Amino acid sequence: MTKPTEELLLHESRLGAGDESIADLVRKMIIKLGEDPDREGLRKTPERFEKALKFLTSGYAQNAEQLLNGATFSVAYDEMVIVKDIEFFSLCEHHLLPFFGKMHIAYLPNKKVIGLSKLARLVNMYARRMQIQERLTSQIATSIQERIDPQGVGVIVEARHLCMQMRGVEKQHSKAVTSAMLGAFRHNKQTRDEFLALVRNKAS
Ligand code: ZN
Repeated sequence: MTKPTEELLLHESRLGAGDESIADLVRKMIIKLGEDPDREGLRKTPERFEKALKFLTSGYAQNAEQLLNGATFSVAYDEMVIVKDIEFFSLCEHHLLPFFGKMHIAYLPNKKVIGLSKLARLVNMYARRMQIQERLTSQIATSIQERIDPQGVGVIVEARHLCMQMRGVEKQHSKAVTSAMLGAFRHNKQTRDEFLALVRNKAS
């Protein structure tokens, strides 16, 4: 699989010489939208937007292999590991507007586990890219599967999409829910039900 950094270089080769910065383009965009980029409140907006957008897409500069390197541990534990309510913020690739919410990740170890804080970093890595919720969900499940080869992985993502909510396309408070179930979470109803029950348990 091509590493994200190699992909970046490939796409950058399309830009040609004398290319403008993101800030230059944002300045033009502000003019096209009918605003004055030189008025006080907007003067530094192009640079601020470039900085923010680069942070929000900083996941392209990372890959799961590097991120989880040295963060997997051998254990005798074989009960379900579940991390609930991991907050994330991403950008929908269709509108470049935020979608955000909570992610619930579970897996059944097969002699190996991942450091808990690394799961949150893995979520950030994939969320800080141009995404669709379905791909974000399956990428996280697949990368856990690939790194520690567990008996199964389950990922549930609940998110609100500003491209729908701000434009009034959907009911203001509707949430999109996606899931990816691999291995035992797909084939074993009991495992899947245990995961779903733990996710629904709001008492904790
Ligand atoms: Zn969208």
